[in-house]
Amino acid sequence: MHEWAIAEGVVSAVSKLAEERGKEVMRVKIVVGELSGYEIEVLDTALKSLSIDTPLRKARFEIVVEPTQFKCNFCGFEWGMPEVRGQLAEIFGSENAETPMHYIPELAVAFLKCPKCGSPDFTITAGRGVRVAEVELA
Ligand SMILES: [Zn+2]
Repeated sequence: MHEWAIAEGVVSAVSKLAEERGKEVMRVKIVVGELSGYEIEVLDTALKSLSIDTPLRKARFEIVVEPTQFKCNFCGFEWGMPEVRGQLAEIFGSENAETPMHYIPELAVAFLKCPKCGSPDFTITAGRGVRVAEVELA
């Protein structure tokens, strides 16, 4: 389970920060990319379990999903998942288009095209990976 590996990395990095400053962690805000495919509930459970006996034992975890953002390398148009729902429906069939977007694998975006000019050459500018956005110590 990748969620546990991610949680371990977060707990270890934030613990180190708190120990260096001799403080306890009150709140941690984690931003999870929509395309990462991580399950928020699993990640939350992993964070809480791994925080026992660390400076994070009292921490409140705020997990926020970052929507995917694309930018066309040809015309510069920027768009998100709602604009390509129609394309996803064509790729996966209309039934699966109703699937929550964070279940759409990152590979699927390889089949998308710019909604404005039709170019398949675009960059994913947001919605990938996991990062610690804020840490509150006390
Ligand atoms: Zn374009």
